[in-house]
Amino acid sequence: MSVLFDPVDTLKGIGAVRSKQLAGMGICTLYDLLSYFPRSYEDRTVFTSIASLEPDVRGCFRAMVVSHPQTARIKKGMEITKVSVSDDTKKLTLVFFNQSYISKQLEYGQEYAFYGKLDAGYTGLQMASPSFEPLGKNEITGRIFPIYPLSAGISNKIMSGIVIQSLDACRGELPDIVPTSLRSLNGLDDVQTAYDTVHYPPNFPALDRAKNRLVFEEFFVFSVALNLMKSARTSIFHSPYEMVNLDPFYGALPFSLTNAQRCATEDIVSDFSQNKPMNRLIQGDVGSGKTMVAAAAIYCAVKNGQQVAFMAPTSILAQQHAKSLKPLLGQFGITVELLTSSLKAGEKKRVKSAIASGEASVVVGTHALISEDVLFHNLDLVIADEQHRFGVAQRTALSAKGAHPHLLVMSATPIPRTLSLMVYGDLDVSVMGELPSGRQPIDTFLMGESMRARINAFIRKQVDAHNQVFIVCPAVEESENETLKSAQMWSEALQEIIFPDLDVALLHGQMKGLEKEAIMDKFVLGKTDILVATTVIEVGVDVPNATLMVIENAERFGLSQLHQLRGRVGRGTDKSYCILMTQSRNEETRQRLNALVGTNDGFKIADEDLRLRGPGDFFGSRQHGLPVFKVANLTTDLETLRQAQIAAAQYLQSHDSSDDFSKKALQARIHALFGGDEVPIS
Ligand code: ADP
Ligand code: MG
Repeated sequence: MSVLFDPVDTLKGIGAVRSKQLAGMGICTLYDLLSYFPRSYEDRTVFTSIASLEPDVRGCFRAMVVSHPQTARIKKGMEITKVSVSDDTKKLTLVFFNQSYISKQLEYGQEYAFYGKLDAGYTGLQMASPSFEPLGKNEITGRIFPIYPLSAGISNKIMSGIVIQSLDACRGELPDIVPTSLRSLNGLDDVQTAYDTVHYPPNFPALDRAKNRLVFEEFFVFSVALNLMKSARTSIFHSPYEMVNLDPFYGALPFSLTNAQRCATEDIVSDFSQNKPMNRLIQGDVGSGKTMVAAAAIYCAVKNGQQVAFMAPTSILAQQHAKSLKPLLGQFGITVELLTSSLKAGEKKRVKSAIASGEASVVVGTHALISEDVLFHNLDLVIADEQHRFGVAQRTALSAKGAHPHLLVMSATPIPRTLSLMVYGDLDVSVMGELPSGRQPIDTFLMGESMRARINAFIRKQVDAHNQVFIVCPAVEESENETLKSAQMWSEALQEIIFPDLDVALLHGQMKGLEKEAIMDKFVLGKTDILVATTVIEVGVDVPNATLMVIENAERFGLSQLHQLRGRVGRGTDKSYCILMTQSRNEETRQRLNALVGTNDGFKIADEDLRLRGPGDFFGSRQHGLPVFKVANLTTDLETLRQAQIAAAQYLQSHDSSDDFSKKALQARIHALFGGDEVPIS
């Protein structure tokens, strides 16, 4: 066993207590410690004289202790230790609070290197609690000093000290998962240099190079994993489908498909004719008509005697899909069932047995499809709608319910192309860049409270014209410390005070499934004029009769999210509008929101969002299927990502160029990145 996996308490100065503190930070072995990277750095390379220290700016200086440290108790539980130091230029008083042991460390007449900040606003020079060390030690001064993310008990000084110890202990032991050839091709440090440098940078250019190597490494691991996933899938055999004549299906639609819909359908049909399972992503902006493409795929699969699962992220959406698919596919004798957790027990049982017997050819549902004991008769096509809400793991779990079924993923989130690869890298992609004809672009306005009366009048005008209105609020309930519009309060105010004669309904995520469905039903049927909701309506809901969306506290939402919300209107042929309400006077915020006023192009908005907010908004958490990167930044490191992808492909073509030790290390890293055993590695 390599020294890398020795426990941290083999280091000097690490006993049971610190061991435990480190374990709390996820650090158990020396390797964990080495992989615990600084979050930033302080430039402590330059020494100045005391006289040229500036108030409130941190700096390094060398000085001699010129008084015996004095400790005094200033109040209960508070001791203060003072000591004077001096260089050629000036004398300075250092003060330490509750650190009387300092008097043993700072010896009269000795010189030390200090690092600290002059207090401003004092008469007489004074500095509180500077760091210090003997001259020439160069651990905390005279170098570029790493700042580690810390938790209570472990100081930066301790941290950097033990990291340096373990760098020495592990010298020569670190596996290099990037083979030499790829390193030289991409101008990368070897692993030892990179680790030495990030923890103890000799200079800033070297630090940049080392960081780049670590970012590259992280993307390299990720890209190799994606490639492996993809090739694991493509090596699976699936017997090709018989060709299906889609004319009867097309004939049953109330409209003719757009070119984009036809192309996407052709891609799917062509996948079906291969002898391996389909893995396809349909990416189309909101309202581009992805559901009909899914319906065509279902039609083909069922005509081939196969069963289909259609998974949606919310019960509202599942219900809506079931409602539109039942009559359409019913004409061809295809049975569509709905399975959500809000079904009554008896109905649930009936649906499950219909799925198990194969009597139901199509089942539409939420994640209940995977989380419950649902057995399929011959599941062969899995469709995941608005997939960015499903992680790779969930996709895999559903697929496991059949024998390597075809997979069709649909997403309306116009993820910037560079990022889409992060989540969808293992999928083939069809882009639908066209909306059905007859749609008018949505007009978007940015407004403030002073326009409230006119907005209310506009809402009434829409309702008078027999259209419907969405109002989105950022919060469900009032909260004490925030001035956000709450859906609950605002819906009451609208119903009771502003529009007593209209039908106002409330919808939010804390409601029970059945209740939500009933409210949504009423709205879809046109029985409700105004629906006040939280972002539960963000995903996929299709009510062509809705022509106005008002978004309260718009500054609270990301651009892409706002674009999704706005996509709930403009789905019919009537002119639609979106009003973004904000009280914010912040120039940046207004500029950001104005990006939406300026364009209806989801991809442009996504790029802008990425630029402004980083990728967090696209993939909030691990559940969204994106691995968590430790060093790499998806906003700024995209060029490195591209290089790493090319390198990963090269690596997989010539496996043998790295030794077994490095290969094993790479596998371990892949498992760590994906947090489990989802990734099949040969
Ligand atoms: P999304 O891509 O956002 O999931 P939907 O599938 O919900 O879009 O479709 C949006 C609306 O457009 C639906 O009301 C649907 O019936 C309608 N639609 C779909 N395809 C066409 C088409 N080719 N022509 C006209 N309307 C269409
Ligand atoms: Mg949809």
